[in-house]
Amino acid sequence: MQTPATQPDGAAIHTAKLLSSVRITPESSREEVRQMTFETDADVAAEVGSCIRILAPGQYGNRYHTRLYSIADRDRSATGFRFSVCVRRCFYIDDFNGEKYEGVASNYLCNLRPEASIEFSGPVGYPFAVPADPKVDLLMIGMGTGIAPFRGLVRTIYEKLGGWKGRVRLFHGAKTGLEMLYLNDANSDLASYFDQPTFKAFHAVSPRPAFDAPVALGEALAKNAAEVWEIVNSPDSRVYVAGATQMLEAIDKAMAAMAGSLQAWRTLRQNLAAQGRWVEVLY
Ligand SMILES: Cc1cc2nc3c(=O)[nH]c(=O)nc-3n(C[C@H](O)[C@H](O)[C@H](O)COP(=O)(O)OP(=O)(O)OC[C@H]3O[C@@H](n4cnc5c(N)ncnc54)[C@H](O)[C@@H]3O)c2cc1C
Repeated sequence: MQTPATQPDGAAIHTAKLLSSVRITPESSREEVRQMTFETDADVAAEVGSCIRILAPGQYGNRYHTRLYSIADRDRSATGFRFSVCVRRCFYIDDFNGEKYEGVASNYLCNLRPEASIEFSGPVGYPFAVPADPKVDLLMIGMGTGIAPFRGLVRTIYEKLGGWKGRVRLFHGAKTGLEMLYLNDANSDLASYFDQPTFKAFHAVSPRPAFDAPVALGEALAKNAAEVWEIVNSPDSRVYVAGATQMLEAIDKAMAAMAGSLQAWRTLRQNLAAQGRWVEVLY
């Protein structure tokens, strides 16, 4: 194998081939999210929940435009290391002139066809570890593509480890039911764990899709406050949060109501984070 090229920070640059790209939001949904599976012959020890840095072709004289994507799935095959990422096609429409601005890396990825080659570096970080003790409770809160690392965790727990004794609760926020990744009509593979006695998933679909999607996430937590609070405070439990930055405000508000005040909740959140029991990946 050739010595790989490196980025300015010294990180090795690898290549991977796209094996498949499948849209996991229905065609009728405004959101396009794709599950993309790549294979590489590089020696990358990527775990579900860690991120890879995609090096999309740069603009304005820059060689690369780099963005992070969470590993949603991983596997070794006879021919190399396979990994999947779940990518939302980002764009912004200017209210004033109606012009559409496309996100560089997400559109580059979503437009790729099987057999195409990408460059990447990493993995970086491995925030959502499976706890060593299967009796601890796990609370996962994901918004949009933030569900991807948690789907991977749920699969690891029930398929690879054979089950879990603690409670596993997954809150998933989306703007509409169609955007409920892995739980919509086109793709419902998370539903296959519903017969597991320790697993429960809660949908949080925004009542006002055009505006404040995270609001519904806060409401779903509030509706299940007794159990959520028990889990947050149960010995060695983990609270894992992934997705859009705005979701933190909705979570904080719901948790502050459970804690009695925002100050009390922030202090507890800091303590949990210091113990590695509150882990967030926000973007
Ligand atoms: C730890 C981490 C993990 C992540 N995991 C995932 C993941 O699993 N899946 C995922 O989909 N994303 C993930 N992200 C987000 C991802 O890294 C990118 O930020 C996202 O895909 C947008 O990148 P982009 O290059 O497409 O958009 P950019 O080119 O960076 O643009 C960002 C936004 O600005 C808008 N924009 C561009 N130009 C203009 C303009 N002139 N005026 C106004 N708006 C404009 C774009 O439409 C886009 O919405 C993660 C981020 C982090 C930090």
